[in-house]
Amino acid sequence: MEIDKKKDVRALTKEQLRDFFVAQGDKAFRGNQVYEWLWQKGAHSFEAMTNISKETRALLAGHFVINHIRVDQMQRSNDGTIKNAVRLHDGLIVESVLIPTATRTTACVSSQVGCSLDCKFCATARLKRMRNLNPDEIYDQVVAIANESRLYFDRPLSNIVFMGMGEPLMNYNNVLKAIDKITATDGLAMSPKRITVSTSGVPKMIRKMADDEVKFKLAVSLHSAIDEVRTAIMPFNATFNLTDLREALQYWYQKTQSRITYEYVVWEGINDTRRDVEALVDFCKFAPSKVNLIEYNPIDDGAFRQADRKAIQNYVTALERNGITVTVRRSRGKDIDAACGQLANKQ
Ligand code: SAH
Repeated sequence: MEIDKKKDVRALTKEQLRDFFVAQGDKAFRGNQVYEWLWQKGAHSFEAMTNISKETRALLAGHFVINHIRVDQMQRSNDGTIKNAVRLHDGLIVESVLIPTATRTTACVSSQVGCSLDCKFCATARLKRMRNLNPDEIYDQVVAIANESRLYFDRPLSNIVFMGMGEPLMNYNNVLKAIDKITATDGLAMSPKRITVSTSGVPKMIRKMADDEVKFKLAVSLHSAIDEVRTAIMPFNATFNLTDLREALQYWYQKTQSRITYEYVVWEGINDTRRDVEALVDFCKFAPSKVNLIEYNPIDDGAFRQADRKAIQNYVTALERNGITVTVRRSRGKDIDAACGQLANKQ
């Protein structure tokens, strides 16, 4: 695919856009107008900027491109979930998901093409190809879903979760820039409290987030609080072990006072014993937290099987007895491979 070598105009800050126009002998104010088209009105082309003169649009087109994402394919689940296959300017594809409930619309967005980690139970981990998404590629996924929310559900987007493809903390700077734009008053003006970043647990980056005093919420894909078990299913745990993770999470809580959510799947023969339950209860005591027990979405023929209801109930009982909030989550969008861990560009 031919890639236009001109710079993406959206890599410029508002200041840089203003400076560009001044350097061209125009007014700095023109920069504000173009910025508004790019970030508030989501223009895909310079042509669309109707209050900008033809000459100025030509000038912009001579210097820049807008590498907007394109929703190549949209699939709708029978439970209302929508999955977008999103084509990037270089032809690569990521997926994002709109999850409707009675009162909310949540956008689940990707942060990388493929994933740099190696969780054994996740379909995305099997994709070889990988690159980080740019801030605007993340932002565009949110805009696309916000539009679909208005179109199909007649309401605005209410929440965003970074639970699509990729490990957001391995693309931290770009994720942060995207969130800045999503929350900015001259962007989508969404509250950071409605945004959750989910990580498989990169201690150094969790500390960095705490130091940066980010205002969004943190979720950690824990799946086991016993090192041997966790390393067997999430091999990077050999490098970032549970002690490091726990210390980083304590640091996070001290700095932010923001409760941590643990995502956890219970698998038959892997983490369904009493010892597993007790280890999780202990882990949850280090910092205020809650647990989402999520349903396993099979990605192949066998190594992982969802544990039975009794095993899940053992977790619920023990956690509740210790005053830890726990919810059991049903998956959405399974019939279109849009559920957790199923995003793998199958189409
Ligand atoms: N890399 C980040 C973001 C991905 S979020 C993270 O790990 O948190 C996707 C969530 O779905 C994670 O909690 C992940 O552990 C979980 N998941 C992965 N594969 C799954 C599967 N097959 N069934 C259910 N959940 C899965």
